[in-house]
Amino acid sequence: MGHSPGGAPLVFDGHNDTVLSLERTGRSFFERSDEGHIDLPRARAGGLGGGFFAVYLRDPVVVERMREGGPAADLGLQIYADERTWPEPMSLEYAQSQTLETLGRLLRVAEASDGEVHVVRTAAELQHDLDRGTFAMLLHFEGAEPLDPDGHALDVFYAAGVRSVGLTHSRRNRYCQGVPFKFPSSPDLGPGLNDAGKALVRQLNARRVMIDLSHLNERGFWDVAKLSDAPLVATHSNAHALCPHPRNLTDRQLDAIRDSRGVAGLNFHVGFLRADGAHDEQTPIATMVDHVEYMVRRMGIDHVALGSDFDGATMPAALGDAAGLPALVAALEARGYHGEDLRKLAHGNWVRVLRETWGA
Ligand code: ZN
Repeated sequence: MGHSPGGAPLVFDGHNDTVLSLERTGRSFFERSDEGHIDLPRARAGGLGGGFFAVYLRDPVVVERMREGGPAADLGLQIYADERTWPEPMSLEYAQSQTLETLGRLLRVAEASDGEVHVVRTAAELQHDLDRGTFAMLLHFEGAEPLDPDGHALDVFYAAGVRSVGLTHSRRNRYCQGVPFKFPSSPDLGPGLNDAGKALVRQLNARRVMIDLSHLNERGFWDVAKLSDAPLVATHSNAHALCPHPRNLTDRQLDAIRDSRGVAGLNFHVGFLRADGAHDEQTPIATMVDHVEYMVRRMGIDHVALGSDFDGATMPAALGDAAGLPALVAALEARGYHGEDLRKLAHGNWVRVLRETWGA
């Protein structure tokens, strides 16, 4: 149970931008494509049992330039590489209207799946889906822009199934700010959470919604560490000691995640893996395993998981897409992860930390 066709434990993944890819390319989640990284046939082929599906909001200026025919990814990298060129924080009204559209797209994928895709609301449901091989979709916000300080929107989005909220992307919003895509750099860039951001943490704790720390700057991270009563989680971030990108976690941050019984998910993006930060697809899978090994040595086997960034980043060519996950699993086995340890890395640690965070 909970195994891929090849017998390895199913992978539950901490981050994808698949809904953006579906929208941009017009491809179907139910048909095998050469574009992007995840669809149901490739998930089945690779032993991907589900994951966090991010609702990421494009800034209006990016939407405008894409309409003019600009490439979304390159434009994003330019704007978000330097806090001086960040767009102004988006309005609550814009963020909510975009979120309704994107969330609607995700819910329709589940609805159109004839029971093959299920939106998970509890850790028991997640475990059940993995046991039965039902594809588990966890609804996640990559940025708190659609949430109002009074918590009304959170009530509604919670009822719609949202169970995880990243406080920000690599930009500024009305609660906090993220790290720019600047390399190399410490993640200690800019101020921490403001009062509204601190109130938001309490709101998310009270609702027992998971708080995701990936993209948040270091002062914001420590503010959450001080305030939150939940395990600290970074869904898609690597070890800063091996790749000094501000999106990655310093040793002190890894220690705090371990001490809180939290989890860090391995990001497969080549620029967050490589010591030189280069966007080189010829990055070996061994480099991914190096980060897993480093984080396991630092935090222990119970605190490391996978957070691919499929459909939102540049994958090592040797992995390719979701259908290539068996190559990563094989590389983990070759490095000595078997049985229960491999199950924890593949999905067990996500189920455990979600159960402790959500309470069911
Ligand atoms: Zn991200």
